[in-house]
Amino acid sequence: MLEIRVFGASDSVGKSCVMISDKDRRIVLDAGIQLHPRKTGLFSTPPEGIDDYISSVDSVLLSHAHIDHSAYIPALYRAGYNGSVHMTIPTKDIIKILWKDHLKIEGPHHYSFSHLHNALDKISVHHYSKKFKIANGITAEFYDASHILGSAAILLDWDGTRIFYSGDFNDAKTPYHDPMTYPDPDEPIDVLLTETTNANRKMDNRKIITSNLTKSLLKCYSRGGKAIIPSFALGRSQEIQSYLVSDFDSFLRKYPLYVDGMILDMNNIYQKYMNEKWISPRLLIELKEKGLFSPFEHEWVKTIDDVQVSGKRGRKREKLGCQDKASIILTTSGMLEGGPVYDYLRYCGSDPSNGLFVVGYQVEGTTGSDIVSGKKNLSLDNGFGRINDVTLSLEVKRFAFSGHSSLDGLTQLVRYTSPSKIYTIHGEPEAQENYAREIRKIGYEADILITNDMLPEFP
Ligand SMILES: [Zn+2]
Ligand SMILES: [Zn+2]
Repeated sequence: MLEIRVFGASDSVGKSCVMISDKDRRIVLDAGIQLHPRKTGLFSTPPEGIDDYISSVDSVLLSHAHIDHSAYIPALYRAGYNGSVHMTIPTKDIIKILWKDHLKIEGPHHYSFSHLHNALDKISVHHYSKKFKIANGITAEFYDASHILGSAAILLDWDGTRIFYSGDFNDAKTPYHDPMTYPDPDEPIDVLLTETTNANRKMDNRKIITSNLTKSLLKCYSRGGKAIIPSFALGRSQEIQSYLVSDFDSFLRKYPLYVDGMILDMNNIYQKYMNEKWISPRLLIELKEKGLFSPFEHEWVKTIDDVQVSGKRGRKREKLGCQDKASIILTTSGMLEGGPVYDYLRYCGSDPSNGLFVVGYQVEGTTGSDIVSGKKNLSLDNGFGRINDVTLSLEVKRFAFSGHSSLDGLTQLVRYTSPSKIYTIHGEPEAQENYAREIRKIGYEADILITNDMLPEFP
């Protein structure tokens, strides 16, 4: 009899962590942390209860690098784990940067540098669609989840019982990824564990969202303004750069794009994986036609280090933010919870000809969510006691990009995999309820995975 237990992201998004076990074997899928808005002053929260089991776990598998799925993994080694962590090849490169950055921001709250290095030493990397053994009688296989570089859905074969964990996945075509790939429909899935992030949100077509962003950029340019685009370092930022290079190409000469913050580190990782194993052939062909290897090589895509002034990046930001010349500035952080965007708001925020174009989901309580809701007076705390009071007069707009599947894509996953049992995770309660309602219409039932549940026997 298999048991399934969830330690986080049961009825919310954040600190994803699931354990599947029988009397002899235990497998953990993801171990992330939950971040809290900066103004709460709270440390991130770990998945609750995993430490009690971890010393007897056989293998840990990671679906993708986002820290709400990955950043508790080093702490598992503090709690007594000594086994392998399986992930795709690019995921390893990305988490190295994200984990170190997290440790720098939060200090050794969950783990120290030595736990982090223990974890890095134990990583085992894999390609998509290649089976590997994770315990006696159990194999795993990664499927391209199309969410970020290297993201995977995970298929477990547990003595013949097939369990499919969706991770975070996207059913939409994005520049870097084709829609998610599914296991062979001829071999139905016994248990589906699915994310439900967008199950109660209506989503616009990506083409419409990008064309709206382009229109806003052109308007901002026509009034001589600078366009600041705060963005997640990983995934969304590369997507925006590729849109600008393909749709905005001829305009970049007049309205150059400057990239700043951790996006530059992530661009380097993307450069390394610009091949058909990890990136959509559509993009590779399009770039080749333009004579480019990656969007970041475009003549008018610049980095903060290209700003001509001597001194550190702080000085370059000041020059870029204060100069008369119009430009687009793509920078972190995506929810305006710190990062270089605070400098740009300081230099550009009070000029109504400028624009702040938010391109990601904003969690309630974050500075980004406050600004999008109309807050104008802000105290921006950039750490080390540097607090700047700013009054915003620039244009603020949000563009509803999402890296998660639409409700249609979520139900399509059910149709393709024909699961005997469905559990929902990684979504607000209303999203999970709406998901259950929708899939009932196509003849399936779904349960919210609360804390632990016994899986039914499968032949
Ligand atoms: Zn994610
Ligand atoms: Zn997630």
